[in-house]
Amino acid sequence: MFFLRKKNKPIIIPRSDHTLSRRDIDPDALKVLYRLASLNHAAYLVGGSVRDLLLGRKPKDFDVGTDARPREIKSIFKNCFLVGKRFRLAHIVFGKKVIETATFRKAPAQDAVQDEHGLYQYEDNTFGTPQEDALRRDFTVNGLFYDIKTFSIIDYVGGLKDLKSKTIRSIGDPSIRFREDPVRMMRAVRFAAKLGFDICSADIKAIRKYAGDLGNASLSRLCEEIQRLFVHQATERSLRLAYEYGLLAVLLPSLHQWLSEKPENCEAVWQALHALDQTAAKQDVSNAVAFAMLFYPMVTETVEQLRAKTPTGKRFNVFHARRLAAEKVLTPIVKHYRFPRALWMTAIDILELTDRLTRKPDPASARDIRFINHGIFPEILQGAEVFKTLFPTRPWQIEVWQALYQKAGPIARQKRDEDFVPPANPHTRKARRRHTKRRRKNHAPNAQQQPTPSA
Ligand code: ATP
Ligand code: MG
Repeated sequence: MFFLRKKNKPIIIPRSDHTLSRRDIDPDALKVLYRLASLNHAAYLVGGSVRDLLLGRKPKDFDVGTDARPREIKSIFKNCFLVGKRFRLAHIVFGKKVIETATFRKAPAQDAVQDEHGLYQYEDNTFGTPQEDALRRDFTVNGLFYDIKTFSIIDYVGGLKDLKSKTIRSIGDPSIRFREDPVRMMRAVRFAAKLGFDICSADIKAIRKYAGDLGNASLSRLCEEIQRLFVHQATERSLRLAYEYGLLAVLLPSLHQWLSEKPENCEAVWQALHALDQTAAKQDVSNAVAFAMLFYPMVTETVEQLRAKTPTGKRFNVFHARRLAAEKVLTPIVKHYRFPRALWMTAIDILELTDRLTRKPDPASARDIRFINHGIFPEILQGAEVFKTLFPTRPWQIEVWQALYQKAGPIARQKRDEDFVPPANPHTRKARRRHTKRRRKNHAPNAQQQPTPSA
């Protein structure tokens, strides 16, 4: 079906002509939508959730857009907290879940001044109409609304057409949109990888031209977006695109440089990430494992270099060399971005220790028992699964380690502790009671101040 949109008029798709069902909307998001609508406010499901539901995917979160102002939202919902400095957002809290509810806002004025980097800098955002709210969003497929009053989809930006043709396209001129917020270039790559879409040619051209602007984005946002490049089951594609369009050169220059040295390096990284994606299709894989796999080929080459040039001519212990190499490769990057410690320390451990799972564990060995009881062991197991996919002919003993983990790992221990009922031992009980009595006597209130009868 083709939808024609007149200027300033949205395309409205009635319930009978689309597939988005209320059954797939989170019940708490529905509660928020219905409550706002019952008080005569506009109440739309917005952003990624509409996109994902129309694609038949499970949304990560459900965001709501409304014409109610933040203070009004707060007065309507007891479980509401206002957050954000520049633009107040309402967080409506249901247990651990948050339904983010935002008042429609418009993009800042086009005549905004440029800062010293030539990037557009704007004043605080201001409230706007639903159309203005759609136009300020990043990509057409992220600019769709679902209206709870009519159950229809409202499209001001051509998102339905792009969903159909599987295209990531900036809303408005990509050169302006990417310069306003360079992180949008990473988001384009992420959505293309995650949804299996293509980025439109105008956006690709603009990304190639303005990739360098990413260097001006805040480190904390970049740190977050680098981790979001580890897309579930599509990390290979997202990193390939980031490399091809010049984003990786700005984000992770040492990795980019190494990849461009020879085609074999690229091949090794894409294969490692392919194995990661294949494993993620079957089981959980943490970001630390993804981080380790991204750098694994580069670390392996560094291990060989370190082992080749030991001063005494003696070759390093391979585990020691692996740790040194992983630290050498990762430390400058993690220091620059201040990645969470748990992420990179675990990645280094995975790079160093996963190989241990190619030999059988010894249940009598204190070292092996210590290893399985270490907090990172579940991630070592995940890493081993990825390495097994990458190197299937190695003698992996993952099942045997897993069995020992079930039997003697922390969960087994905790369960044993919970089930453990101490045997009745009259001697111990008596001793404890006597001790308590004595203590009570000694610690009687004001015992020290009270004069003893003999005094
Ligand atoms: P995901 O499923 O990965 O969370 P999402 O589309 O929900 O994808 P979010 O980062 O949660 O992405 O953002 C929610 C919505 O906010 C987006 O769909 C988009 O409409 C808007 N948005 C987010 N970041 C930007 C940005 N930098 N510029 C413009 N709009 C943005
Ligand atoms: Mg989201």
